[in-house]
Amino acid sequence: MGWLGLDDTDSLAGGCTTEAFHQLITNLPDGVVCGTPRLVRLWPFAQRRTRGNAALSVEIHASDEAGLLTHLDAWWETHLAPLSGQVEASTISERPQVPASPGMVWFADAPDESYYWDAVRGDVTNSIRPQARRSWGGHGCIGATAAVAWPAREATWEAIAWRMPGASGSRRIDDAVLREVDGWSNIVFSRDPRRGHQLVAPRGPSPVLFGLRSRTLEDAEKACLRLLDSANTESVIGWRVFKTNQASGDHLGADVRRSIKGKEVDPVRKHVVLSTDSHPIKVFAEGGPVNALARWLEVGDEVLVRGLVHPDGTLHAEQLRLVHAWPRQRQRPLCDECGVRMKSMGSGQGLRCPACKQRTPDSWEDVEFAPPTWAWTEPDVDARRHLARPLAWSENNGNSGRLNQNDEKQW
Ligand SMILES: [Zn+2]
Repeated sequence: MGWLGLDDTDSLAGGCTTEAFHQLITNLPDGVVCGTPRLVRLWPFAQRRTRGNAALSVEIHASDEAGLLTHLDAWWETHLAPLSGQVEASTISERPQVPASPGMVWFADAPDESYYWDAVRGDVTNSIRPQARRSWGGHGCIGATAAVAWPAREATWEAIAWRMPGASGSRRIDDAVLREVDGWSNIVFSRDPRRGHQLVAPRGPSPVLFGLRSRTLEDAEKACLRLLDSANTESVIGWRVFKTNQASGDHLGADVRRSIKGKEVDPVRKHVVLSTDSHPIKVFAEGGPVNALARWLEVGDEVLVRGLVHPDGTLHAEQLRLVHAWPRQRQRPLCDECGVRMKSMGSGQGLRCPACKQRTPDSWEDVEFAPPTWAWTEPDVDARRHLARPLAWSENNGNSGRLNQNDEKQW
């Protein structure tokens, strides 16, 4: 009985931790039984993150722990340790390349979940890592341990299939079948509803043919098999359904309420930075509806924000909701006798109706205004983080908000 974790076997451009993990657990010795493998996304701003910052773990039942560890020692030396330091030239990312630093851990008992929460919400480079019974390798032990510590109370599933050795170039996935399974209520994020693009195939030189996301294990399996059964989908070396923390929202703390003190909009790219009494709020153009709301805001308006503080000190807003807005414009009232708009007679001299000449004391009324929305906003499905929980899944996305239930987190 125990838990195996693995992370950081891929560079940004090549390799794939999910495939390395698939090979690892497919080739365990006879008599070893695995639970459902788990794919765990961690803090999106981790300095060393690879694509999507995912780590892997699985619960293992083995009557002979010593024999299993001997097998893992050998597998590590032959298949995983050689991946260390690999960097491939990247055409898909401008981020600095970080050499792979694979790490594998074995825990007889799952460590406390607190390490998972630290690793999904912040930087754990210098935190105290729970002691594994055995660990192999380097930096990857951090994510591997966090993946083991994940309590998995809030989960979705992803069926991942890997291409045949040597397969490269464009992926062949039966689009008609994909459209069909996309219509199932539990299959999620497989297509961009606005533009019709499929979202299941990674870009770039990954060995993954597709990753199909689902709210249930059964539908993930069924949809994956439907795709693989089609003659119009290319052959694969294998597939597995992973239990994941994707769409859990685990990376976010409680909502924060902020009053806007200033606004800067990048004239070309349309990114917005809102100054507040605390961290400046950054809303990227890719945020779509979130960005549209941010651009509409003016000084004095108040918002609720869900997001993560970047190491540069800005709060990257993922979801945003307007809670108070000042009137954008004022105007003179209408004459109550004839309905014509009153005019000022000059400073301190009141108003006069241009038609009937009735006079009234000086006054203003607010011009009606319409914000883009009073509801919570989120990016379109193709621009969300793996961890982002869709608003449609939350019980409170209307005017009550989570603020009423949780203490406001102070950044
Ligand atoms: Zn009048």
